[in-house]
Amino acid sequence: MSDLSNRDIKYLQGVGPRRAELLLNELKIRTAEDLIYYFPYKYIDRSRTYKICEISGGAMPYIQLRGKILSYEKVGEGRHTRLTARFSDGTGVIELVWFKGIKYIEEKYKPGEDYTLFGKPAIFNHSYNISHPEIDAIDNEIDKNVGLQGYYNTSEKMKSSFMNSKAIQKIIFTMLKNLPGPLTETLPAYIINKLSLIYLTDALKNIHFPESPQMLQKAQLRLKFEELFYLQLNIIRYSALRRNKLGGFVFGTIGHYFNSFYKNNLPFELTGAQKRVLKEIRTDVGSGRQMNRLLQGDVGSGKTLVGLMTMLMAVDNGFQACLMAPTEILATQHYEGIKELLQGTGLEIVLLTGSTKKKQREYIHAGLQDGSIHFVVGTHALIEPVVKFQNLGMVIIDEQHRFGVEQRSKLWRKNIKPPHVLVMTATPIPRTLAMTVYGDLDVSVIDELPPGRKPIQTMHQFDNRRSSLYTAVRKQLELGRQVYIVYPLIEENEKLDFKNLEKGYENIKEVFPDYNVCMVHGKMKPADKDAQMQLFVNHEAHIMVATTVIEVGVNVPNASVMIIESAERFGLSQLHQLRGRVGRGAEQSYCILMTSHKLSQDTRKRMEIMVRTNDGFEISEADLQLRGPGDLEGTQQSGIAFDLKIANLAKDGQILQLARDLAQEIIDKDPGLKLPENFILEKRLQKLFQKRVDWSIIS
Ligand code: ADP
Ligand code: MG
Repeated sequence: MSDLSNRDIKYLQGVGPRRAELLLNELKIRTAEDLIYYFPYKYIDRSRTYKICEISGGAMPYIQLRGKILSYEKVGEGRHTRLTARFSDGTGVIELVWFKGIKYIEEKYKPGEDYTLFGKPAIFNHSYNISHPEIDAIDNEIDKNVGLQGYYNTSEKMKSSFMNSKAIQKIIFTMLKNLPGPLTETLPAYIINKLSLIYLTDALKNIHFPESPQMLQKAQLRLKFEELFYLQLNIIRYSALRRNKLGGFVFGTIGHYFNSFYKNNLPFELTGAQKRVLKEIRTDVGSGRQMNRLLQGDVGSGKTLVGLMTMLMAVDNGFQACLMAPTEILATQHYEGIKELLQGTGLEIVLLTGSTKKKQREYIHAGLQDGSIHFVVGTHALIEPVVKFQNLGMVIIDEQHRFGVEQRSKLWRKNIKPPHVLVMTATPIPRTLAMTVYGDLDVSVIDELPPGRKPIQTMHQFDNRRSSLYTAVRKQLELGRQVYIVYPLIEENEKLDFKNLEKGYENIKEVFPDYNVCMVHGKMKPADKDAQMQLFVNHEAHIMVATTVIEVGVNVPNASVMIIESAERFGLSQLHQLRGRVGRGAEQSYCILMTSHKLSQDTRKRMEIMVRTNDGFEISEADLQLRGPGDLEGTQQSGIAFDLKIANLAKDGQILQLARDLAQEIIDKDPGLKLPENFILEKRLQKLFQKRVDWSIIS
């Protein structure tokens, strides 16, 4: 059995110190094992060889040719020199072009010798050429039986040192050829048999050099399954461990406060979804386990009310509760809304933020410590060590993705046992992702909006339709509604974006001289920002021109129009979040996506999806498909790096489910992985996750 994990790549045939350093710096490949787990990102069918006379039409694919270089010629001067060659296979001649590495090419590939050439013909000056083709001597051992050939990602720096895909392939080929025996298997035999997987050695050989398309598929299945399986096994094992070790406070009763609130204070009937989620929470907090629940619900679905009623469960059992929001405005809105709902209950609720005055702050600190204050709503200020509770039992976190894992974990330490945690988010996370990122958080979903809401109408318009758009906006303003206009502002493009924002603001003031326009962006001082926001909240301003700072949580039910400028520059989830700022009142609301005429196919798709649906889950699934999980909002901040080598969360949902079910089954039977048949699992987990922080304990 070979163990490759302690074999330095430096000593592999064809590598050496210089290439080893490149591989380490550019790809973090240190050992032979790292290298063998560096998989191709695509495969190209090279079983067919084209004839030059067959090249025709507009867009040619990558093709393979066989023939001879007839002659070289250098064109241009200095930095602009390029090398061209005439290449012929007897059926025709095609030009090859290089802009870099000219000297090397000329020395390495001699006119008159037979070569296999691989590249994409493009039309240049009315005839075809191929730039930077891949060239190989025909008797190359690797090419003998190629059908599917793997392609490896390499960096610019590697390419310029000729560590291209082909070079990597050669090193791996040699390494695999020289293996003294099969590799140590990483899955127990009973799993391999149960799922009819192929062995690790076969899978690794075929992932690099597929014997056939069928074998490639089997190799991919085996490796994807294994990757997802260990991820799930790790999460499930730790959450089982945590559940056994760390008990939770028991909220045994639903008491006076909850019941009387329900009877006397609740201004409307709960939706079916709100009721269901409250039952799920009730079961959790009564179980003796610590609750860690993620509450997903689209904007406006009534999460805050669920949060509040959960806080009432805490007081009924002698505990305090806190609600943490990401911004001061949002915390204030929550505080005011909840305070009003609690009128007549005799419960004390306070607001604690960075701008709370010293005297009030001291009052709050004392009241929380002696238990006279039941609820506190606030921002990050709640996390500070000076904030101590007499008996904190419930933590509600709104809009989770703005808080890092570490910040959340600090709230855990504010009682002898960790309080129950309910994380509320309006960024729906697709199931597959939730299973991986929040693998040990239970997930509740509010999938129903309160009755009487009219779905937001979304339209996509091109920039040149602006004047008719403004006519429609004026109608809404005349009806007494308010309007948001949002501009993109990203760091890389900050100066230009800022100019556009200001230009937009000036323009709007000119178009609507009879209405008040306010402006909010991230670069303003917090106090100025709040003042501008307040103008809009109080209806003193009719139009708000803003950047995405308004994305989170602000509630202005009277706003009925959301115009998103340069909508092509926003991701789907972000567009959906922005749109959620309107449609909060009883009036028909509108969202207008403004773009230029020139749109990529992906952008067109994004706009179509936004126009078609208001369903946050559908949108986040689509976002995952279009962008892949690494980019999704929420995953970056969640503290879990997504360095999946082969599995794709957007595409491999079924394999993930299979992996998760099996992992659960195994942990149910053998929580400590002590059975001899599970020895491999324990060993592998240690190896894979030894250096990782144990997020499952603190998320
Ligand atoms: P979210 O935080 O989920 O975006 P909110 O909790 O802010 O949504 O609720 C949006 C609005 O809906 C609030 O004005 C709230 O009072 C109202 N609301 C919540 N639940 C109901 C319900 N069951 N029936 C009617 N209105 C509701
Ligand atoms: Mg909310």
